[in-house]
Amino acid sequence: MTKSDVLVIGSNMIDLISYVDKMPIAGETLEAPEFEMGFGGKGANQAVAAARLGSKVSMITMVGNDAFGQQQLENYKTNDIDITGVGIGTKGSGTAPIFVDKSSDNRILIIKGANSELVPEVLDKYLDLIKDTKLIVLQQEIPLETNYRAIDLANEYGIPVLLNPAPGNKDLDISHVTKVDFFTPNETELAILTKMPTDTLSEIKAAAHHLNELGVKNVIVTLGSKGALWVHDDEEQIIDSIKVKAIDTTGAGDSFIGAFSHFYTSGEDIPTALYHANEYAAVTVTRRGTQKSYPTAAEFKSILI
Ligand code: ATP
Repeated sequence: MTKSDVLVIGSNMIDLISYVDKMPIAGETLEAPEFEMGFGGKGANQAVAAARLGSKVSMITMVGNDAFGQQQLENYKTNDIDITGVGIGTKGSGTAPIFVDKSSDNRILIIKGANSELVPEVLDKYLDLIKDTKLIVLQQEIPLETNYRAIDLANEYGIPVLLNPAPGNKDLDISHVTKVDFFTPNETELAILTKMPTDTLSEIKAAAHHLNELGVKNVIVTLGSKGALWVHDDEEQIIDSIKVKAIDTTGAGDSFIGAFSHFYTSGEDIPTALYHANEYAAVTVTRRGTQKSYPTAAEFKSILI
């Protein structure tokens, strides 16, 4: 038996969400009627989604040397995520102060904090975790060099690797992208890497095929309410999402990646795993919040019936 089904190497953040009647302007002090704290960070979100669906999940991440860091550790334990690979940094925790106004417009700041201490050398401490998993999952809220090292180690040990290039980073080097098994951008992230337009479905398809021709095995582009496009071996397939009434799409992309990782490592073929990931992500957009909106396997089943 492997140590984990899914190993997420990535970020964790504390979301500090103020709900305001209107955005403050420079120099203005306003009272926010509501405040909420939430667990976030793309790495942690994806890990939580896969774990709630029943995967055995490990994380390699760095939490801050503060109270938020301790709360993150507790959150991993609550969600049955193995914390062998969780280090405590010298900096404070990654945080994301967010303002959301009445029309759901938002302003977000990201303070990476301890996430920036997840440097390539940290991975050398956890080779046992890296060697012994069914899938390694990466995003882009930690240093790019750490992802490059993770991809090289995954290739060396013959472990499949998924790179979710979010948030988009224009410095991402294509020579590393061709070494991953799954590359999962949204249309904006696809445009950043390919420098091709992605405003229409035919442009998105052209950019995805371009990456496939360059050697990226499976390009999976998330398309919001339209589901996902899968391009591989010169072929393409759109896997539709289900029709729902969306009320909050925050963290939908992460729930999709976590769910795909779960279903794929459970033995489903790629299109079936994508179909189920669409269903899972669609359920999360009908609920408010990020990790809070991710159902467990039992809840997910009962909602779909
Ligand atoms: P974010 O950065 O907001 O998390 P994203 O741009 O990475 O999102 P999207 O393409 O918006 O990701 O959504 C990810 C997945 O969530 C989609 O592929 C789809 O499965 C599901 N999804 C998102 N919005 C909807 C919706 N309105 N209805 C049904 N499914 C949705």
